[in-house]
Amino acid sequence: MAPKTILVTGGAGFIGSHLAQRLFDAGHRVIVLDNFYTGRLENFGSRYREMLLSGRFEVIRHDVVEPITLEVEQVYHLACPASPVHYQHNPVKTLKTNVLGTYHMLGLAKRVGARILLASTSEVYGDPQVHPQPESYWGNVNPNGVRSCYDEGKRVAETLACDYHREHGVEIRIARIFNTYGPRMSVNDGRVVSNFICQALRGQPITLFGDGTQTRSFCYVSDLVDGLIALMASDVCEPVNLGNDRELTMIDLARTLERLLGDKLTLEHHPLPQDDPVRRQPDLQRARTLLGYEPRVSLEDGLAETIEYFRDELAEGPGAMTTAGRT
Ligand code: NAD
Ligand code: UDP
Repeated sequence: MAPKTILVTGGAGFIGSHLAQRLFDAGHRVIVLDNFYTGRLENFGSRYREMLLSGRFEVIRHDVVEPITLEVEQVYHLACPASPVHYQHNPVKTLKTNVLGTYHMLGLAKRVGARILLASTSEVYGDPQVHPQPESYWGNVNPNGVRSCYDEGKRVAETLACDYHREHGVEIRIARIFNTYGPRMSVNDGRVVSNFICQALRGQPITLFGDGTQTRSFCYVSDLVDGLIALMASDVCEPVNLGNDRELTMIDLARTLERLLGDKLTLEHHPLPQDDPVRRQPDLQRARTLLGYEPRVSLEDGLAETIEYFRDELAEGPGAMTTAGRT
């Protein structure tokens, strides 16, 4: 593909930084826009200076709740905290990010004729009554619970994207991302994979919420980035699930980590958070058929990489800037 100028909002975050780096390595000019709520420049590790000096990479500190004028050809709109701990910290801000932020990015895409990909989420299915979840399922979402700022926010973001497409002809892509994990998650991210690994490495008990029989399906970040890029390159305007369809319980996850670490882990039960979905697994048929998408990294391999990353993070201490050779 000819080099393009590509905006990645939320580009200093976990997924965004992997995506921005992949696009940069493919020869594109990449503009990262981020308010650094959960993102950090350390995510670019030792490559940051080289990328900046290339003249093809720039970082703008900006909050998508405010409009911005930029000339770009593609927008990957990822700006939004993804961990329940972070998105529930300031729920009104999360809603503004999802609604006003998406509105501003769609307005930008419309003005410059850019194609825009919205990072939506499996949370639009809520606590699903259909299993696994195909894109045709409308979901089972609490409109006024503690997760609503995020899941209802993303549902409005999808509505906005579809209306900009129908009303203004904006070229939209909608990725419904399922639980994704890997290096560059922050130690205090609060999601289950980072919590369990960091607790295990610190010799602390594993905080298992509820009875641990709730399920999720975990996707390694490089597979997700493959899917996002394939979706952007496609002509598919409908939402597409992206993730990995191997489903497991949170107890299975703890046991898998136990095997990989070779240590016996102590499970400590905590109450299940409100509206925590009981089951979640993507139906990937649309992604497979229309994008040729196939997640390739096994849970064991992905967790092993992530364990090594967190070993380094914990050894360095959070926020250290000496992050050489990160994947
Ligand atoms: P993350 O928290 O690491 O990254 C989010 C990034 O957005 C951060 O860099 C943060 O600073 C930035 N940001 C937040 N609010 C902003 C604002 N108002 N203006 C500008 N920047 C802002 O999370 P992530 O896991 O990398 O998630 C990225 C995107 O993917 C999010 O939109 C999330 O909803 C979506 N998603 C992620 C997952 C997952 O499992 N990781 C699952 C479903 C959807
Ligand atoms: N969870 C857990 N212990 C933790 C963090 C999360 O048992 O320390 C559970 C949580 O209740 C949920 C699952 O793990 O059932 C996935 O949680 P996460 O926050 O990673 O993602 P989400 O609920 O948004 O899918």
